[in-house]
Amino acid sequence: MEQYIVIHYGEIALKLGNRKFFEAKLIENIRKALKDLGEIWLKHQHGRIIILIEENYDLELIRQKLQKVFGIEYFVFAHNSEQDIEQIKKDLYSLIKKKKFKTFRITVRRSQKAFPINSQRVAQELGEFVMKKMKKKVDLENFDLNIFVDIVENFAFLYFEKIECSGGLPVGVSESLLCLLSGGIDSPVAANLMQKRGARIVYVHFDAYPATPKENSEKVKELVRVLNEYQNNSKLYLVPFLEIQKEILKIAPEDYRVIFYRRAMLRISEKIASKEDILALVTGESLGQVASQTVENIKAISEATSMPILRPLIGFNKEEIIEVARKIGTFELSAQPFTDCCSLYVPKHPVTRADLNIILDKEKNWDFEKIINKAIKNTQLIKI
Ligand code: ATP
Ligand code: MG
Repeated sequence: MEQYIVIHYGEIALKLGNRKFFEAKLIENIRKALKDLGEIWLKHQHGRIIILIEENYDLELIRQKLQKVFGIEYFVFAHNSEQDIEQIKKDLYSLIKKKKFKTFRITVRRSQKAFPINSQRVAQELGEFVMKKMKKKVDLENFDLNIFVDIVENFAFLYFEKIECSGGLPVGVSESLLCLLSGGIDSPVAANLMQKRGARIVYVHFDAYPATPKENSEKVKELVRVLNEYQNNSKLYLVPFLEIQKEILKIAPEDYRVIFYRRAMLRISEKIASKEDILALVTGESLGQVASQTVENIKAISEATSMPILRPLIGFNKEEIIEVARKIGTFELSAQPFTDCCSLYVPKHPVTRADLNIILDKEKNWDFEKIINKAIKNTQLIKI
Protein backbone atom coordinates (compact mmCIF):
# COMPACT_ATOMS: atom_id res chain seq x y z
CA MET A 1 0.00 0.00 0.00
CA GLU A 2 1.27 3.41 -0.84
CA GLN A 3 1.27 6.06 1.83
CA TYR A 4 0.26 9.68 1.33
CA ILE A 5 0.14 12.93 3.22
CA VAL A 6 -3.31 14.42 2.70
CA ILE A 7 -3.52 18.11 3.56
CA HIS A 8 -6.77 19.98 4.18
CA TYR A 9 -7.01 23.74 4.25
CA GLY A 10 -9.51 26.21 5.62
CA GLU A 11 -12.64 26.51 3.61
CA ILE A 12 -13.79 29.63 5.45
CA ALA A 13 -10.73 31.60 4.49
CA LEU A 14 -11.41 30.83 0.86
CA LYS A 15 -14.74 32.59 0.84
CA LEU A 16 -13.06 35.88 1.56
CA GLY A 17 -10.66 36.12 -1.25
CA ASN A 18 -9.01 34.83 -4.29
CA ARG A 19 -9.10 31.07 -4.08
CA LYS A 20 -6.55 30.29 -6.79
CA PHE A 21 -4.00 32.68 -5.31
CA PHE A 22 -4.49 31.25 -1.81
CA GLU A 23 -4.05 27.70 -3.06
CA ALA A 24 -1.00 28.48 -5.16
CA LYS A 25 0.68 30.21 -2.19
CA LEU A 26 -0.19 27.36 0.13
CA ILE A 27 1.32 24.82 -2.24
CA GLU A 28 4.41 26.97 -2.71
CA ASN A 29 4.82 27.24 1.07
CA ILE A 30 4.34 23.51 1.56
CA ARG A 31 6.99 22.81 -1.06
CA LYS A 32 9.36 25.21 0.68
CA ALA A 33 8.71 23.65 4.08
CA LEU A 34 9.47 20.20 2.64
CA LYS A 35 12.34 21.27 0.42
CA ASP A 36 14.77 18.92 2.18
CA LEU A 37 12.85 15.97 0.75
CA GLY A 38 13.99 16.89 -2.75
CA GLU A 39 11.61 16.32 -5.65
CA ILE A 40 8.17 15.40 -4.30
CA TRP A 41 5.07 13.92 -5.95
CA LEU A 42 2.27 16.38 -5.21
CA LYS A 43 -1.26 16.53 -6.48
CA HIS A 44 -3.86 19.17 -5.77
CA GLN A 45 -7.41 18.00 -6.08
CA HIS A 46 -10.76 19.21 -4.76
CA GLY A 47 -9.66 21.07 -1.67
CA ARG A 48 -6.93 18.59 -0.78
CA ILE A 49 -3.21 18.55 -1.36
CA ILE A 50 -1.86 15.04 -1.68
CA ILE A 51 1.81 14.11 -1.39
CA LEU A 52 3.21 10.64 -1.97
CA ILE A 53 5.34 9.39 0.93
CA GLU A 54 8.60 7.79 -0.17
CA GLU A 55 10.28 5.16 1.94
CA ASN A 56 13.06 7.39 3.21
CA TYR A 57 10.77 10.17 4.51
CA ASP A 58 11.00 11.12 8.17
CA LEU A 59 7.33 11.46 9.12
CA GLU A 60 8.02 13.06 12.48
CA LEU A 61 10.02 15.80 10.80
CA ILE A 62 7.34 16.28 8.15
CA ARG A 63 4.75 16.57 10.91
CA GLN A 64 6.73 19.34 12.60
CA LYS A 65 7.31 21.23 9.37
CA LEU A 66 3.72 21.09 8.15
CA GLN A 67 2.35 22.21 11.50
CA LYS A 68 4.13 25.49 10.85
CA VAL A 69 2.61 26.12 7.45
CA PHE A 70 -0.23 28.58 7.98
CA GLY A 71 -3.35 27.91 5.95
CA ILE A 72 -3.39 24.19 6.74
CA GLU A 73 -6.32 23.14 8.94
CA TYR A 74 -5.18 19.57 9.42
CA PHE A 75 -3.37 16.80 7.61
CA VAL A 76 -3.18 13.03 7.84
CA PHE A 77 -0.76 10.26 7.03
CA ALA A 78 -2.91 7.79 5.11
CA HIS A 79 -2.50 4.42 3.46
CA ASN A 80 -4.16 4.11 0.11
CA SER A 81 -6.20 0.97 -0.38
CA GLU A 82 -8.37 0.33 -3.44
CA GLN A 83 -11.92 1.40 -4.14
CA ASP A 84 -13.12 -2.11 -3.45
CA ILE A 85 -14.75 -3.02 -0.16
CA GLU A 86 -13.14 -6.46 0.10
CA GLN A 87 -9.69 -5.02 -0.55
CA ILE A 88 -10.34 -2.26 1.99
CA LYS A 89 -11.13 -4.91 4.61
CA LYS A 90 -7.91 -6.77 3.88
CA ASP A 91 -5.80 -3.65 3.97
CA LEU A 92 -7.52 -2.31 7.06
CA TYR A 93 -6.89 -5.58 8.86
CA SER A 94 -3.21 -5.49 8.01
CA LEU A 95 -3.01 -1.97 9.44
CA ILE A 96 -4.87 -2.58 12.70
CA LYS A 97 -4.09 -6.16 13.58
CA LYS A 98 -1.19 -5.10 15.79
CA LYS A 99 -2.86 -2.03 17.24
CA LYS A 100 -3.93 -2.11 20.87
CA PHE A 101 -7.55 -1.06 21.29
CA LYS A 102 -10.77 -2.31 22.81
CA THR A 103 -13.32 0.01 21.25
CA PHE A 104 -13.41 1.67 17.87
CA ARG A 105 -15.50 3.63 15.46
CA ILE A 106 -15.46 3.93 11.70
CA THR A 107 -15.67 7.39 10.17
CA VAL A 108 -16.35 7.33 6.45
CA ARG A 109 -16.29 10.09 3.90
CA ARG A 110 -17.28 9.30 0.34
CA SER A 111 -17.11 12.03 -2.26
CA GLN A 112 -16.46 9.58 -5.09
CA LYS A 113 -20.06 8.85 -6.00
CA ALA A 114 -19.02 6.24 -8.53
CA PHE A 115 -18.16 4.03 -5.56
CA PRO A 116 -21.28 1.89 -5.34
CA ILE A 117 -21.78 1.74 -1.57
CA ASN A 118 -22.84 4.79 0.42
CA SER A 119 -20.82 5.91 3.41
CA GLN A 120 -23.21 4.64 6.03
CA ARG A 121 -23.10 1.15 4.58
CA VAL A 122 -19.34 1.23 4.21
CA ALA A 123 -19.13 2.07 7.93
CA GLN A 124 -21.55 -0.72 8.81
CA GLU A 125 -19.77 -3.32 6.76
CA LEU A 126 -16.31 -2.42 8.00
CA GLY A 127 -17.58 -2.15 11.57
CA GLU A 128 -19.01 -5.65 11.46
CA PHE A 129 -15.84 -6.93 9.88
CA VAL A 130 -13.62 -5.51 12.64
CA MET A 131 -16.02 -6.67 15.37
CA LYS A 132 -16.10 -10.24 14.13
CA LYS A 133 -12.54 -10.60 13.01
CA MET A 134 -10.92 -8.93 16.01
CA LYS A 135 -13.57 -9.21 18.73
CA LYS A 136 -13.64 -5.47 19.32
CA LYS A 137 -16.55 -3.28 20.29
CA VAL A 138 -17.99 -0.33 18.45
CA ASP A 139 -18.35 2.81 20.54
CA LEU A 140 -19.12 5.94 18.59
CA GLU A 141 -18.44 8.25 21.53
CA ASN A 142 -15.71 6.72 23.68
CA PHE A 143 -13.51 4.89 21.25
CA ASP A 144 -9.84 3.94 21.56
CA LEU A 145 -9.36 3.92 17.83
CA ASN A 146 -11.02 6.04 15.17
CA ILE A 147 -10.75 4.36 11.78
CA PHE A 148 -11.09 6.95 9.04
CA VAL A 149 -11.96 5.82 5.54
CA ASP A 150 -12.00 8.50 2.82
CA ILE A 151 -13.20 7.39 -0.58
CA VAL A 152 -12.32 10.37 -2.70
CA GLU A 153 -11.40 10.72 -6.36
CA ASN A 154 -9.30 7.69 -7.23
CA PHE A 155 -8.19 6.99 -3.66
CA ALA A 156 -9.37 4.96 -0.69
CA PHE A 157 -7.48 6.48 2.21
CA LEU A 158 -7.23 4.69 5.55
CA TYR A 159 -5.90 6.54 8.60
CA PHE A 160 -6.33 6.87 12.34
CA GLU A 161 -5.32 10.37 13.28
CA LYS A 162 -6.00 13.92 12.11
CA ILE A 163 -3.06 16.18 12.86
CA GLU A 164 -4.50 19.58 13.73
CA CYS A 165 -2.69 22.70 12.53
CA SER A 166 -3.21 26.40 13.16
CA GLY A 167 -5.20 27.34 10.09
CA GLY A 168 -4.82 30.99 9.20
CA LEU A 169 -3.73 32.21 5.79
CA PRO A 170 -0.64 31.13 3.83
CA VAL A 171 2.26 33.51 4.36
CA GLY A 172 2.47 35.74 1.30
CA VAL A 173 -1.23 36.19 0.56
CA SER A 174 -1.38 39.41 2.59
CA GLU A 175 0.81 42.50 2.22
CA SER A 176 4.25 42.30 3.86
CA LEU A 177 4.70 44.05 7.21
CA LEU A 178 7.63 45.55 9.09
CA CYS A 179 7.85 44.28 12.66
CA LEU A 180 9.74 46.18 15.35
CA LEU A 181 11.43 43.22 16.96
CA SER A 182 13.02 43.51 20.39
CA GLY A 183 14.60 40.60 22.21
CA GLY A 184 11.56 40.37 24.48
CA ILE A 185 8.67 37.97 24.66
CA ASP A 186 5.98 40.03 22.96
CA SER A 187 7.18 41.23 19.60
CA PRO A 188 8.12 37.76 18.22
CA VAL A 189 4.59 36.62 19.11
CA ALA A 190 3.14 39.69 17.39
CA ALA A 191 5.17 38.86 14.27
CA ASN A 192 3.94 35.28 14.29
CA LEU A 193 0.29 36.29 14.64
CA MET A 194 0.66 38.48 11.57
CA GLN A 195 2.37 35.61 9.70
CA LYS A 196 -0.70 33.61 10.58
CA ARG A 197 -2.82 36.22 8.81
CA GLY A 198 -0.75 35.69 5.69
CA ALA A 199 1.81 38.48 6.04
CA ARG A 200 5.45 37.99 5.25
CA ILE A 201 7.46 39.83 7.92
CA VAL A 202 10.51 42.04 7.54
CA TYR A 203 12.19 42.84 10.86
CA VAL A 204 13.85 45.90 12.32
CA HIS A 205 15.79 45.88 15.58
CA PHE A 206 17.26 48.89 17.36
CA ASP A 207 20.53 48.11 19.04
CA ALA A 208 22.27 50.28 21.64
CA TYR A 209 25.59 48.46 21.33
CA PRO A 210 28.12 49.06 22.97
CA ALA A 211 25.94 50.26 25.85
CA THR A 212 24.11 46.92 25.58
CA PRO A 213 25.91 43.61 25.06
CA LYS A 214 26.93 42.38 21.63
CA GLU A 215 24.93 39.21 22.27
CA ASN A 216 21.71 41.22 21.88
CA SER A 217 21.86 41.23 18.12
CA GLU A 218 22.75 37.52 18.09
CA LYS A 219 19.68 36.79 20.15
CA VAL A 220 17.48 38.79 17.80
CA LYS A 221 18.91 36.91 14.80
CA GLU A 222 18.18 33.68 16.60
CA LEU A 223 14.57 34.77 17.12
CA VAL A 224 14.27 35.55 13.42
CA ARG A 225 15.59 32.07 12.67
CA VAL A 226 12.84 30.53 14.78
CA LEU A 227 10.22 32.70 13.06
CA ASN A 228 11.68 31.69 9.71
CA GLU A 229 10.20 28.25 10.27
CA TYR A 230 6.95 29.99 9.32
CA GLN A 231 8.20 31.92 6.30
CA ASN A 232 11.42 30.32 5.09
CA ASN A 233 13.70 33.37 4.99
CA SER A 234 13.67 37.01 6.11
CA LYS A 235 15.38 40.34 6.15
CA LEU A 236 16.48 41.92 9.41
CA TYR A 237 17.45 45.59 9.61
CA LEU A 238 19.81 46.23 12.49
CA VAL A 239 19.81 49.91 13.40
CA PRO A 240 22.53 51.45 15.63
CA PHE A 241 20.50 53.39 18.15
CA LEU A 242 22.84 54.56 20.90
CA GLU A 243 23.78 57.83 19.26
CA ILE A 244 20.14 58.76 18.82
CA GLN A 245 19.44 57.95 22.45
CA LYS A 246 22.28 60.21 23.52
CA GLU A 247 20.79 63.02 21.48
CA ILE A 248 17.43 62.38 23.11
CA LEU A 249 19.01 62.68 26.56
CA LYS A 250 19.86 66.25 25.63
CA ILE A 251 16.36 67.35 24.69
CA ALA A 252 13.77 65.13 26.39
CA PRO A 253 12.46 65.44 29.94
CA GLU A 254 13.76 62.44 31.86
CA ASP A 255 10.37 60.81 32.29
CA TYR A 256 9.64 61.21 28.57
CA ARG A 257 12.74 59.46 27.28
CA VAL A 258 11.12 56.15 26.35
CA ILE A 259 8.47 58.02 24.41
CA PHE A 260 11.12 59.89 22.49
CA TYR A 261 13.02 56.64 21.80
CA ARG A 262 9.88 55.06 20.44
CA ARG A 263 9.04 58.01 18.26
CA ALA A 264 12.53 57.90 16.78
CA MET A 265 12.11 54.14 16.21
CA LEU A 266 8.88 54.75 14.33
CA ARG A 267 10.41 57.44 12.16
CA ILE A 268 13.26 55.13 11.18
CA SER A 269 10.91 52.20 10.69
CA GLU A 270 8.76 54.29 8.39
CA LYS A 271 11.75 54.97 6.14
CA ILE A 272 12.75 51.33 6.05
CA ALA A 273 9.17 50.34 5.32
CA SER A 274 8.88 52.70 2.41
CA LYS A 275 12.14 51.34 0.98
CA GLU A 276 10.62 47.85 1.23
CA ASP A 277 7.24 48.95 -0.19
CA ILE A 278 5.64 48.01 3.11
CA LEU A 279 2.44 49.75 4.17
CA ALA A 280 2.20 49.07 7.91
CA LEU A 281 4.24 48.38 11.05
CA VAL A 282 3.79 45.73 13.74
CA THR A 283 4.67 46.03 17.42
CA GLY A 284 4.24 43.80 20.45
CA GLU A 285 2.40 46.34 22.58
CA SER A 286 -0.36 45.24 24.93
CA LEU A 287 -2.60 47.78 26.60
CA GLY A 288 -1.46 48.73 30.08
CA GLN A 289 1.33 46.16 30.26
CA VAL A 290 4.01 48.77 30.99
CA ALA A 291 4.02 52.52 31.50
CA SER A 292 4.66 53.27 27.84
CA GLN A 293 1.59 51.31 26.84
CA THR A 294 -1.23 53.46 28.16
CA VAL A 295 -3.63 54.89 25.61
CA GLU A 296 -2.20 58.40 26.09
CA ASN A 297 1.34 57.18 25.53
CA ILE A 298 0.39 55.01 22.61
CA LYS A 299 -1.18 58.09 21.05
CA ALA A 300 1.88 60.23 21.78
CA ILE A 301 4.15 57.58 20.26
CA SER A 302 1.99 56.75 17.23
CA GLU A 303 1.71 60.37 16.28
CA ALA A 304 5.33 60.27 15.04
CA THR A 305 4.26 58.35 11.95
CA SER A 306 1.36 58.42 9.57
CA MET A 307 1.76 54.71 8.94
CA PRO A 308 -0.74 52.28 10.43
CA ILE A 309 0.72 50.38 13.38
CA LEU A 310 -0.73 46.92 13.88
CA ARG A 311 -0.72 45.70 17.48
CA PRO A 312 -1.96 42.13 17.41
CA LEU A 313 -1.35 41.69 21.17
CA ILE A 314 -3.20 44.77 22.32
CA GLY A 315 -5.84 42.77 24.20
CA PHE A 316 -3.69 39.86 25.32
CA ASN A 317 -2.71 39.10 28.92
CA LYS A 318 0.94 38.32 29.54
CA GLU A 319 0.08 34.66 30.25
CA GLU A 320 -1.69 34.40 26.92
CA ILE A 321 1.29 35.88 25.12
CA ILE A 322 3.62 33.46 26.89
CA GLU A 323 1.42 30.55 25.90
CA VAL A 324 1.78 31.43 22.22
CA ALA A 325 5.50 32.11 22.65
CA ARG A 326 5.95 28.60 24.03
CA LYS A 327 3.92 27.08 21.25
CA ILE A 328 5.87 28.79 18.48
CA GLY A 329 9.23 28.15 20.11
CA THR A 330 10.39 31.70 20.87
CA PHE A 331 9.81 31.67 24.63
CA GLU A 332 13.06 30.01 25.71
CA LEU A 333 15.09 32.53 23.75
CA SER A 334 13.01 35.54 24.77
CA ALA A 335 13.13 34.59 28.44
CA GLN A 336 16.91 34.84 28.57
CA PRO A 337 18.12 38.07 30.17
CA PHE A 338 18.23 40.95 27.74
CA THR A 339 18.82 44.67 28.22
CA ASP A 340 16.77 46.48 25.64
CA CYS A 341 17.91 49.89 24.44
CA CYS A 342 14.62 51.29 25.77
CA SER A 343 15.60 50.48 29.32
CA LEU A 344 18.75 52.61 29.15
CA TYR A 345 18.80 55.95 30.93
CA VAL A 346 15.19 55.77 31.97
CA PRO A 347 13.88 56.80 35.40
CA LYS A 348 11.98 54.50 37.73
CA HIS A 349 8.75 56.33 37.05
CA PRO A 350 8.32 57.21 33.40
CA VAL A 351 5.39 59.35 32.37
CA THR A 352 2.13 57.45 31.97
CA ARG A 353 0.08 60.27 30.45
CA ALA A 354 2.38 61.89 27.95
CA ASP A 355 1.45 65.36 26.81
CA LEU A 356 1.96 65.66 23.06
CA ASN A 357 2.50 69.44 23.34
CA ILE A 358 5.55 68.93 25.53
CA ILE A 359 6.94 66.39 23.07
CA LEU A 360 6.40 68.56 20.01
CA ASP A 361 7.85 71.55 21.77
CA LYS A 362 11.07 69.69 22.63
CA GLU A 363 11.37 68.04 19.25
CA LYS A 364 10.94 71.42 17.54
CA ASN A 365 14.56 72.33 18.03
CA TRP A 366 15.83 68.91 17.17
CA ASP A 367 17.26 68.08 13.78
CA PHE A 368 16.04 64.52 13.85
CA GLU A 369 16.06 64.18 10.06
CA LYS A 370 19.82 64.47 10.05
CA ILE A 371 20.46 62.11 12.90
CA ILE A 372 17.91 59.59 11.67
CA ASN A 373 19.40 59.59 8.21
CA LYS A 374 22.78 58.90 9.73
CA ALA A 375 21.41 55.91 11.65
CA ILE A 376 19.82 54.59 8.48
CA LYS A 377 23.09 54.96 6.63
CA ASN A 378 24.76 52.83 9.29
CA THR A 379 21.99 50.26 9.36
CA GLN A 380 22.95 46.72 8.55
CA LEU A 381 20.71 44.60 6.39
CA ILE A 382 21.00 40.95 7.33
CA LYS A 383 19.44 38.16 5.29
CA ILE A 384 18.50 35.23 7.45
P1 ATP B 1 8.70 43.04 23.89
O1 ATP B 1 8.44 41.87 24.77
O2 ATP B 1 8.30 42.84 22.46
O3 ATP B 1 10.05 43.59 24.06
P2 ATP B 1 7.68 44.84 25.83
O4 ATP B 1 6.55 44.31 26.59
O5 ATP B 1 9.03 44.78 26.42
O6 ATP B 1 7.68 44.16 24.37
P3 ATP B 1 8.12 47.59 25.28
O7 ATP B 1 9.49 47.49 25.77
O8 ATP B 1 7.25 48.71 25.70
O9 ATP B 1 7.26 46.32 25.50
O10 ATP B 1 8.17 47.63 23.69
C1 ATP B 1 7.00 47.77 22.96
C2 ATP B 1 7.28 47.38 21.53
O11 ATP B 1 8.25 48.26 20.94
C3 ATP B 1 7.90 46.00 21.40
O12 ATP B 1 6.94 44.99 21.43
C4 ATP B 1 8.58 46.12 20.06
O13 ATP B 1 7.65 45.96 19.00
C5 ATP B 1 9.07 47.55 20.07
N1 ATP B 1 10.46 47.61 20.55
C6 ATP B 1 10.91 47.84 21.80
N2 ATP B 1 12.26 47.81 21.84
C7 ATP B 1 12.68 47.56 20.58
C8 ATP B 1 13.96 47.40 19.95
N3 ATP B 1 15.09 47.50 20.65
N4 ATP B 1 13.99 47.15 18.64
C9 ATP B 1 12.84 47.03 17.91
N5 ATP B 1 11.63 47.17 18.45
C10 ATP B 1 11.54 47.42 19.76
MG1 MG C 1 10.88 44.78 25.54
